[in-house]
Amino acid sequence: RELPGDPESGPGVRQVHGALYSRVEPTPVAAPRLLAHSPEMARALGLTEADLASPRFAQVFAGNALLPGMQPYAANYGGHQFGQWAGQLGDGRAIALGEAVNAAGERWELQLKGAGPTPYSRHADGRAVLRSSIREFLCSEAMHHLGVPTTRALCLVGTGEDVVRDMFYDGHPRPEPGAIVCRVAPSFIRFGNFELPASRGETGLLRQLADFCIRRDFSGLRGGGEALYADWFAQVCERTAALMAHWMRVGFVHGVMNTDNMSILGLTIDYGPYGWIDDFDPDWTPNTTDRYQRRYRFGQQPHVAYWNLGCLAGALAPLFADHAPLQDGLRRYAEAFNDAARRDIAGKLGLDGCREDDIALMRDLQGLMHEAEVDMTLFFRGLAGIDPAAPSPAPVEEAFYDPAKREAADPALRDWLARYARRLQAQDLPADARRARMNAVNPRYVLRNYLAQQAIDRAEQGDLGGVHELQEVLRRPYDDQPGREAFARRRPDWARDKPGCSMLSCSS
Ligand code: AMP
Ligand code: MG
Ligand code: MG
Repeated sequence: RELPGDPESGPGVRQVHGALYSRVEPTPVAAPRLLAHSPEMARALGLTEADLASPRFAQVFAGNALLPGMQPYAANYGGHQFGQWAGQLGDGRAIALGEAVNAAGERWELQLKGAGPTPYSRHADGRAVLRSSIREFLCSEAMHHLGVPTTRALCLVGTGEDVVRDMFYDGHPRPEPGAIVCRVAPSFIRFGNFELPASRGETGLLRQLADFCIRRDFSGLRGGGEALYADWFAQVCERTAALMAHWMRVGFVHGVMNTDNMSILGLTIDYGPYGWIDDFDPDWTPNTTDRYQRRYRFGQQPHVAYWNLGCLAGALAPLFADHAPLQDGLRRYAEAFNDAARRDIAGKLGLDGCREDDIALMRDLQGLMHEAEVDMTLFFRGLAGIDPAAPSPAPVEEAFYDPAKREAADPALRDWLARYARRLQAQDLPADARRARMNAVNPRYVLRNYLAQQAIDRAEQGDLGGVHELQEVLRRPYDDQPGREAFARRRPDWARDKPGCSMLSCSS
């Protein structure tokens, strides 16, 4: 049921009441060209090399043609943006094509991002630029290979059309090449899908969505009624906790943790102005829009996720007679996050377990890393090379950005290393086992912001080589890859404050 624009969202912004989605077809583009694809994802979907090579492939994944059985739609959802209820948002430039079930019985939903306007596009164009599409494509697959739950990316298709965003060059808007990413996930349902019907008192619709989501996406859950809803919410809380621990472990900063960007499956979703920690800084955010409030800064992410789960709990409240099960679920979040964080302390430091004083050991290290401007990825990787019998700083030396700060931190660093060495000597874990354990959770390669930007600069000149190289390196992020040391270096000085290499705007 369509209603005219409401005063909150402005004229011409259609409010869709009483519906969870709208059918909409992608808008064809001028010249589809397959720029990159994920072989792993293609295999998971049962696509062959011949499928990928066929001209039809680029046509379908540019939105120019549909395969039999595809029933495209855009989802209707709302969300809390930067702490405020924002009302209806919806898929403004994402169009789901439908589900594919592979030979193993796995169900994957396919979704085009940037395939043209939908009933939820508001005043925007429904398109995506190449730069942000490359970022989404590379990072989704990189996260997957890091073992971080995420939506996936099947392919990146160039549209052959320009898109105009607010990047200014010589004072004029700069037309940029457009692109479309095909995202893939078991489900794209977000917290905001529940919040919207709840905000409108559409309890029947809310219940219908909850029942559908549980049946399709949480098919392991048994029982019924309120107890089932309670188990489901607790599982959402646990998955979200696991996700936050992963982000903190690898140094990923999402940048826009609005509730419409929170997956009900606990997947990383919506790769916008995200970034990776170079020098360890809990206060860092890549998102220029958030540079004053810093709501979504690195160190704040686990708290924000909890706040967001509170919004979800509020939305689900009409399904419960009393709210105790929702409170229990939120408590599960805190417990599950703490458990995972402790496991990660043990893993990252190569300990046989996380004892009480290991928490302080990690906290003190983080304080030192922040103070002395230390590269997170390089430091933890280097730490595996520390000899407990003679703990010298040599293996972590390359992680320091600023020689003066390195110098000033020398006594603290040596103290910490001595403490760490004593802790290692007090445990019964052979050196090889410790190193293997550490290297399995401390990646060598992450998608540093400047690396992504370099690949983008080349791609905008028509050379996709950088994208393919990064894709290849990030396929095995925990392995030392001889000859690829250049991808595992500190962020160069020139990239420190360069747009795209450190801070990013939401415009994409
Ligand atoms: P995001 O900040 O990426 O989560 O986007 C917030 C909302 O804006 C979502 O409803 C998006 O679908 C919508 N949106 C973002 N970019 C565009 C665009 N270029 N065209 C239409 N809708 C958009
Ligand atoms: Mg979004
Ligand atoms: Mg986005």
